[in-house]
Amino acid sequence: MYFLKLWDDLRSKVEHNKQSITPIDIYKLCSEWAGKIRSTNILKIRELYNLYLAYFEGYNINEYQFLQSWYSLRDLIQFDILNILVVNLEHAIIRCRDIMWEILVFKTNRPCKTCDSELRALTDNKKREIFFCCDNCVYIEDIFGQSVKSLKNQLSPITPEMQEKFLLPPSIP
Ligand SMILES: [Zn+2]
Repeated sequence: MYFLKLWDDLRSKVEHNKQSITPIDIYKLCSEWAGKIRSTNILKIRELYNLYLAYFEGYNINEYQFLQSWYSLRDLIQFDILNILVVNLEHAIIRCRDIMWEILVFKTNRPCKTCDSELRALTDNKKREIFFCCDNCVYIEDIFGQSVKSLKNQLSPITPEMQEKFLLPPSIP
């Protein structure tokens, strides 16, 4: 299938350049692939796009370059891209979402009170408040550690400026 073939091309590009490729390069490759999925007329594929990849529209990855990383680039390349055999298009789309999410969304060293994973930092669309969200469960808390039950709007990734302003330490990879 066409899109899976394109995913395979992406994988090969990462493999051939794995000594020098940056997270920004990887994000851009994923974003290009997502753009091709977006242009499909096939309804079922378009629905998968809307569910998993539409979130990333409108973020310029160049504005989200943090000084310290919360993941190991080597592991991301090896375990999330090269070693994964994608079995179908939905799998590839979810993989693409996970990779983009990992690179774009700052992960803190703050533990989830429910499952103990480390929480990601996101912000409301006015970029005033920080919310800490768990990747594994639905847990969300505010800056004071108070659990948040529901949010009115979709949250956005925090910028490096916000990370500095709120003095948020990254998760240790
Ligand atoms: Zn959790």
